Amino acid sequence: MEAAVKFSSFLLNPWSLTFPMWVAAAVAKEAALQATDVCITFACQRFDPLPSRTGTKPLYKNVLDRKDYAFLLMNSFVEMIFSSHLCYNAWYSSYIQRSWPSFGILNGPIALLLLILFNDMLYAPAHRLLHHPAVYPYIHKHHHRSIYPSRGNIDARNEHPIEQMIAMALWMTAIYMVAFSTGMHAATIIGHLAVMTMGASLNHAGFDLEIRFLGVDWYSTGAHEMHHRRPDKNFAQFTMFWDKLMGTYIPYTDELSDANAQKAK
Ligand SMILES: [Zn+2]
Ligand SMILES: [Zn+2]
Repeated sequence: MEAAVKFSSFLLNPWSLTFPMWVAAAVAKEAALQATDVCITFACQRFDPLPSRTGTKPLYKNVLDRKDYAFLLMNSFVEMIFSSHLCYNAWYSSYIQRSWPSFGILNGPIALLLLILFNDMLYAPAHRLLHHPAVYPYIHKHHHRSIYPSRGNIDARNEHPIEQMIAMALWMTAIYMVAFSTGMHAATIIGHLAVMTMGASLNHAGFDLEIRFLGVDWYSTGAHEMHHRRPDKNFAQFTMFWDKLMGTYIPYTDELSDANAQKAK
């Protein structure tokens, strides 16, 4: 019994923070997320909105309701626990390197790219499974209330808490996979947290942003909008490599009719 209490306590609060400190950290985390959105909006002023956002297309889920706010609150709590564990691992885990001289190409930039790739490798099939008709109405349907998400991290985090816990468990699995295969520096974990936070916001902000390098389309915000308009396509978060492999990739287009968007409802 004592062991179970200790385990639960560690699970909820790995740093053993006092209640006021825990709340202060949660508020700081939330402020950082909102500040990220403000910075992204400012930095993206030079980008046009996605072409599908122009004209008179209706935003089918424009106003947040009580359920949205309840899920956002629960997800903020889950995020706080997850980010505490992420930082705890970065600070204490024996499989993580922490000294600056140990930072290198392999456990830094390459590990970061692998982390993005492995995380999507796990996430894309899980996301596809959440679209299975037997489970879709109970968990993932909530995130698809917005067909043209535009509120950045609010729309990104507006999902069922079970879905968020699944995504974070897969994220932690990807960290272990990369750490055990190539090594991992603590800075890489924090860098990946920043990439995930900014990427999730950008995917739901409506700016037309694309990263192409060596002739390869590494990332585009339009890809995730296509998922909201065509929920049977583009299941990964950032790289569309796994969707191309699964045969579920669809490139961005403004040609789809609203009838297609209606299917997402
Ligand atoms: Zn989304
Ligand atoms: Zn989906």
